[in-house]
Amino acid sequence: MTWKSRPFNKIDADPLKNKADEQGDVSLLSADSSKCPTCGSNIFFEPELGGLLCPNCGNVYSPDTMEPRGSLGVTKEHDYVGDVDMSDDDKKRHEIVCNSCGGTLVADELTMSTMCPFCGSPALITRRMSREFKPDYIIPFKIDKDRAESIMNNWISSRKNTPAGFKKKCRTTHLTALYVPFWLVDCSVNSDLSGTGKFGTVMASDIYEVNSNLKYFVKGVPFDASLQIPNKLMEAAEPFDYSEMVKFESKYLQGFYANKYDQLPTEMVDRIVKRMDRFSLSTTDMLAKKFDKFEDRFDKHFTWLSDLKVSYCLLPIWFVTVDFQGEKYQFAVNGQTGEACGRVPVSDAVDFRSKMLRLSSGPWKFATIPIAGILPFIIMTIVMDFKVTPVKTFIIVLLTVLLVLDLILLVASFIMNFICRHVTDFGNKAYDLNDYDKDPGLNAYYDSTRKSERQVSEKLLRHTVNVTNEQGNIIDQHSIEL
Ligand SMILES: [Zn+2]
Ligand SMILES: [Zn+2]
Repeated sequence: MTWKSRPFNKIDADPLKNKADEQGDVSLLSADSSKCPTCGSNIFFEPELGGLLCPNCGNVYSPDTMEPRGSLGVTKEHDYVGDVDMSDDDKKRHEIVCNSCGGTLVADELTMSTMCPFCGSPALITRRMSREFKPDYIIPFKIDKDRAESIMNNWISSRKNTPAGFKKKCRTTHLTALYVPFWLVDCSVNSDLSGTGKFGTVMASDIYEVNSNLKYFVKGVPFDASLQIPNKLMEAAEPFDYSEMVKFESKYLQGFYANKYDQLPTEMVDRIVKRMDRFSLSTTDMLAKKFDKFEDRFDKHFTWLSDLKVSYCLLPIWFVTVDFQGEKYQFAVNGQTGEACGRVPVSDAVDFRSKMLRLSSGPWKFATIPIAGILPFIIMTIVMDFKVTPVKTFIIVLLTVLLVLDLILLVASFIMNFICRHVTDFGNKAYDLNDYDKDPGLNAYYDSTRKSERQVSEKLLRHTVNVTNEQGNIIDQHSIEL
């Protein structure tokens, strides 16, 4: 059997990009070529896992020997058909479904809800469990409602430029305690990274091709498995302290809501690999240290994962959706650490200021300056020619009006620019979103008990010798391509 392999792929930094778009050229095994030794389902080659993945049981196998090499498998929850097979625990639970957004909450019999935490809609229906509910682990809530709400309100109040109406609305909105389903991924990460390094003086320079392989281990990297909650929001709420993680028991759910998973780890391979790949790429400054100048080859890198292990864990999140002027703003407070995150609207005044700033320093400014310089000359030339005609008078009046308007515009833009820059104290933090858009990285999940390795090879590509004159200027150049 031969496998078509891709030595390098193009993983870009956009986590939302569809997997299907960019994997169109990946060769998949035809349906009859191989079956999973564990469950008999068809298996497929996943370059990012360096092996064959069974989408049914999640096991990964070596393409050559069919030896198991990790798993993205989890204890799957089965759909309930009839009352017969419902577990005793699930008989004491119910599902609350939102008619408006489809969000589903799991809660014990006594816990009801009046408003959907995902969309704010009151259109909720309660029904019996439609699918099993059996997470492996849970981190219980440590932050209570009052504390979570005061953290959120303090955080929102501290945001500059947030409309007062929004702040007021937040003070009257209550947070919902929600156990969010997460897949915690352990694995080893392998990355091939390339770049171009340069050493140089005025006299000579050397260009090197740098290839490196990086291998490290991570433990418990969290990926939320709920479609109702934005991935970025959950990344911003990281990290959690896993030392307080315990085996899941029904008692932890009492009085709280839980969300069910919508996506299995086997359906999230791309998202998982991309996060690791972004982190590997962020380490290339280690390669750069040796050189005077270093450039990443972002088109030439490839990350693959092995020794995969996944566990299903519920993590505590205080969550709320605030509807403000037709837009929805979602917030989360980490129910264990109290870390708050979310998006806030920016007040109209700030919007107005940034619009004015853009307008007053726009490219048209460069047109008003030459017009102000040239027009007086044209007007003078026409005036110097003594013969007065109605047409000439009309042109002079027209040009003078134009000149005055141009000068007003020019002066106004300078004043506006000055005011926007110096008089207001809005600063540059107008669009600060509490690191909402920051990549959470993997530092918190680095497995330091296992040694990471980096192999680097350098190849001289070009040697250049410069011939200089007495003043030190380059007058001739000789290059040797190797
Ligand atoms: Zn299988
Ligand atoms: Zn809803």
